[in-house]
Amino acid sequence: MAERILLVEDEEKLSRMVELELRYEGYEVEKAFDGRTGLERALAGDFDLILLDIMLPALSGMEVLRRLRKERQTPVILLTARDAVVDKVSGLDAGADDYVTKPFAIEELLARIRAALRKRPAAPAEVPRLTCGPLSMDVERHAVQVDGAPVELTRREFDLLRYLLENKGKVITRESLLDNVWGFDFAGETNAVDVYIRFLRSKIDERFGVKIIHTVRGVGYAAREEG
Ligand code: CA
Repeated sequence: MAERILLVEDEEKLSRMVELELRYEGYEVEKAFDGRTGLERALAGDFDLILLDIMLPALSGMEVLRRLRKERQTPVILLTARDAVVDKVSGLDAGADDYVTKPFAIEELLARIRAALRKRPAAPAEVPRLTCGPLSMDVERHAVQVDGAPVELTRREFDLLRYLLENKGKVITRESLLDNVWGFDFAGETNAVDVYIRFLRSKIDERFGVKIIHTVRGVGYAAREEG
């Protein structure tokens, strides 16, 4: 069965050229021309590989990658502008498998695609257990425990806690939490974050007498172990 590639690229000529070459090589190709559509397709479809431009309308390639990685481990090759060193580094940090610098020779792109497809894990990667001191979260089973005792969380509370745990030790601003946990539609309503942080504190910190969710005044919140 042909391997399926999602191509997210807003330059139509480049997109068309790459599509033709990929089809010629026997791949099935689906295209998206902006970040938001790209992310939707990537989450909805079952792709073997994603080619992702960084400079995209609606949602940047980097943001698409970050959101995709919360749900899926589909291999991603970034298409970056020449000499954009920062893009490369943060792209690989954000979970890209490889990158190709524009303008690229199609042979180079094809070679990177073959390499990325070979490296693909046979089974979906196991989602690790997130922990912070006595707290542990099993992402797949949607279960949270403190010292082995279960904690009941709503979907939103869970997602918020998960994001803090994934960034354990880092201070996350309210804006960034809104963006990553609530999505763009809630931009501006930063007090929603404070409200949900209070819910989490009462269900975790206060109930179990632990200190996991820290406020960094004037900046935001962090999940870290006591101290
Ligand atoms: Ca672009």
